[in-house]
Amino acid sequence: MNSSQDIVIGVDIGTTSTKAVAFGEQGHVLSSHAIDYPIVQPHPGWAEQDPDVIFSAVVKSVNAVITKANIGHGRIKALGFSAAMHSLIALDESGRPLTRCIIWADNRSGKQSERLLKEMNGLDIYKRTGTPIHPMSPLPKLLWLKEEMPELFRKAYKFVSIKEYVLYRLYSQYVVDYSIASATGLFRLDTLDWDVDVLHLLGITREHLSELVPTTHIVRGMKREWAEQMALHPDVPVIVGASDGVLANVGVGAVLPGEAAITIGTSGAVRTISPVQKTDEKGRTFCYALTEHHWVVGGPTNNGGILLRWLRDEFGGQEREVAKKLGIDPYDLLTQYAQNVPAGSEGLLFLPFLSGERAPYWNANARGTFFGISLHHKREHFIRAVMEGVCMSVFSVALAIRDVTGPLSEIRVSGGFAKSPFWRQMLADMMGKELLVPETHEASALGAAALALYALGDIPSLDTAKTWIQITSRHVPNKENTLIYSELFDMYMRLYDRLKDEFDVIASFQRKDS
Ligand code: ADP
Repeated sequence: MNSSQDIVIGVDIGTTSTKAVAFGEQGHVLSSHAIDYPIVQPHPGWAEQDPDVIFSAVVKSVNAVITKANIGHGRIKALGFSAAMHSLIALDESGRPLTRCIIWADNRSGKQSERLLKEMNGLDIYKRTGTPIHPMSPLPKLLWLKEEMPELFRKAYKFVSIKEYVLYRLYSQYVVDYSIASATGLFRLDTLDWDVDVLHLLGITREHLSELVPTTHIVRGMKREWAEQMALHPDVPVIVGASDGVLANVGVGAVLPGEAAITIGTSGAVRTISPVQKTDEKGRTFCYALTEHHWVVGGPTNNGGILLRWLRDEFGGQEREVAKKLGIDPYDLLTQYAQNVPAGSEGLLFLPFLSGERAPYWNANARGTFFGISLHHKREHFIRAVMEGVCMSVFSVALAIRDVTGPLSEIRVSGGFAKSPFWRQMLADMMGKELLVPETHEASALGAAALALYALGDIPSLDTAKTWIQITSRHVPNKENTLIYSELFDMYMRLYDRLKDEFDVIASFQRKDS
């Protein structure tokens, strides 16, 4: 390896944007560039994106980081990809899209998911594939396409994810890494191969899918046109990489067994890494590949920071006005008010399932509930109860993961919620565990760059990336608060069980197009 080649580019193809980041030695950021794109909703519950718009964002963002950092041709050692999971595009024989890119947020296959679970041994499929049966996953989406658009389904030559589409356009090769494949519901964890029973159920063959490769697989020989537009040499090694979720663990330094990453942005996720594939008897957690020796066990929650946003937008007019006058962020004001109330919100408990719930319940009909409201509760109690509800939901996911992988010993937090030291402390108190706050900006892009270096043999293990990441603060749990939360958390779990059937009824009142 030429010693002047000291730069690795991580490209993260996300849901709202594609971000390219140029990293120097020790993972420091030289330049970064993000290009946003929209989500199209042609029908209620659908969520699609234009694959060619995303491809162009990849090309332009790579070019932009190279230009911004003024990087000469010879200095780029490699480029590694990260991408959002669960996307699906049908292509014709010449590689042209027959559908837009149907993304994880698309809910059209709700009925197919229910049938897969109830009538087609869905739990067994989950146990073989590691992907929970849910409309987010390509498996029910493919079943939907088969049933609702049979002609298009029959005409389709390939079914690919957005990363496969980008790689196809760059290299004219259909390859899919184990990580993206492991989030399709079509891939067997034990054999690292497509699940023939699932393919049979869908009526497709392996020829409809890409060639399976490890996440460390390297491609070279990019089409000149794109290499030129990106300002890359066509033979720069490109590492196919993995999914954004599993790479985010690398990017925050949670790679060894027992280390967990908790991200709470709009939604949230808890993830830890196991050296072997592990699924849950009760179907609560996912298991996705990072490499053949690193399996990410975790669970996503729908109800993260979006709840504080909902509170701010629907009920926080007063706070928004005051914050504007003071020139501060309304979130900071809301969280300040919440601090006037003790842990437990003086008997106000909140079940946060405003957008249904994925892990641990996988129940689209779950709904939000304030429990225990009395006349002494003021707006600050409600604010605090909402923040506590988010922490309870994240804790319930962490407990499901613990059942599958064993105790979680080190927890690293990130996402918009981590901007609030008060909210972070609340989560430490709820979990009764110390939390670490790593300094990361683009965890998945950093993870993609680290995986690229690992693939090239430049770093001995993915854990090396940990040494690049500073810890900016730590939160030690307050024992008194942990005791209060422990009692309330038990009630939270009981309340969910008691309300489960009622959620189905109340959800049926919601307008179908809302
Ligand atoms: P995304 O998932 O879209 O990337 P972010 O990671 O930016 O979202 O997280 C956004 C969420 O973070 C907001 O909805 C809010 O709940 C939370 N958040 C952002 N800033 C603050 C803050 N200063 N205090 C508390 N919470 C915050």
